[in-house]
Amino acid sequence: MLAHDLEQLKAHVIHQRQLQNPGVLKPKHDSAKDLADIRRDLGDCRRCHLHTTRNKLVFGAGNANAELMFVGEAPGADEDLQGEPFVGRSGQLLSKIIAAIGKTREQVYIANIIKCRPPGNRNPEVHEIAICSPFLDRQIETIKPKVICALGTFAAQTMLNTDTSIGRLRGHAHPYKDYCLLVPTYHPAYLLRSPGKKKETWEDMQLIMQLLA
Ligand code: SF4
Repeated sequence: MLAHDLEQLKAHVIHQRQLQNPGVLKPKHDSAKDLADIRRDLGDCRRCHLHTTRNKLVFGAGNANAELMFVGEAPGADEDLQGEPFVGRSGQLLSKIIAAIGKTREQVYIANIIKCRPPGNRNPEVHEIAICSPFLDRQIETIKPKVICALGTFAAQTMLNTDTSIGRLRGHAHPYKDYCLLVPTYHPAYLLRSPGKKKETWEDMQLIMQLLA
């Protein structure tokens, strides 16, 4: 991505955020309370049939006022058991990636497109996303991050509503919801299988650091 394009994108998003948050005109909302309200609305969710095979629903975790949010596809086996996002081997790698950009997991927010593990780690189905993703949308609307990092093909394609490959989507900041930018990168589970791709993920993290600067 060219430096000029990046500055134009940043300026556009800053302008949109100012329009949406005119400071004194609008009282600042309590993001932590709003997130708790969303969690309460979700309850012991049985809106789709994934509730029949899950152990624990994985809502999301982190800072309610995070500038940076990571969004994956769906909980895996470890997450399903613990009820926390990205806690298995790929979670450990994600923690290292977050540390590499000078942040902690407590400073960012981590969630998934859907909140219950699909059996056998299959991809979420269209109707499951349609039912579940409005809760993620509410989380994003509440947190209003400056940057969202979409982890892996599925999350990136779903959030950007495209079938373009992750290889072509990554390396760029995409306007998202008019007040933030979305940077796709490879899923940590993929990086464990293909460590040669870590270099590109590091480039994506450098782009994120530029956007947050
Ligand atoms: S995947 Fe989402 S909609 Fe389906 S049961 Fe779990 S929380 Fe509810």
